Amino acid sequence: MDFQEIPQADGSISVVAAGRQLVCTVCGGTRFHERNSLLNTRAATFFRFDWANKEATNYICNQCGYIFWFML
Ligand SMILES: [Zn+2]
Repeated sequence: MDFQEIPQADGSISVVAAGRQLVCTVCGGTRFHERNSLLNTRAATFFRFDWANKEATNYICNQCGYIFWFML
């Protein structure tokens, strides 16, 4: 998947994913903060998901805190 991150004046980013602007499904916001998370929770290890311990990219809505998860 192709991601484009566009820095905003307030330090947040807007994100274009697969050619479309990422819009928060909760509040309609278009500004996010990025975070990377490891998917190595205890539950994932227990169930031996094959994606456990992979890295995910989170985009966190600047307005309401809703978190998008992307496996890259
Ligand atoms: Zn939101």
